[in-house]
Amino acid sequence: MKDNSSDLESVQMQMQPGVLTLEGFLGTDSRSLAEIVQADDAEVQRLGLTHERIAERLTQLTQMALQGFGTPQKGDEFSVVCSEAIGGWVRCPFRDKGRFRKGEIVLTDKNSGRMLTWTPLSVHLIEEHGFYQGKGSHYRLEPSLLKEILF
Ligand SMILES: [Zn+2]
Repeated sequence: MKDNSSDLESVQMQMQPGVLTLEGFLGTDSRSLAEIVQADDAEVQRLGLTHERIAERLTQLTQMALQGFGTPQKGDEFSVVCSEAIGGWVRCPFRDKGRFRKGEIVLTDKNSGRMLTWTPLSVHLIEEHGFYQGKGSHYRLEPSLLKEILF
């Protein structure tokens, strides 16, 4: 994360609704992108995790979901399913070279019934940018919930 704050401001523009995705990435969060990233970074450290470990776990689960082609894949403690890819690609709002398949992965925790929802881009945002999206965003991944369900 070597972005300086003026870079982050322009990235934050890319994250507004309707620029790269209809909904955008910030939800109802009124904090700046820098504040969101700093708070989640501290929280992930507090939980004894790293962005890399979280991304690695989500990558495994994404691959598991993709193998189901829309049929839920069942683990001991959860099921995971990939919604049919809507088609098309989305670019990273940090404007690196990656582009990512649209389509959504939903994991349901069998015990609690709670769900985690993400996209291939979500995993990249965590791995490369330590960004879990803004509060109120459909794809916000709360670090404490990730820890509870996945670790
Ligand atoms: Zn990126």
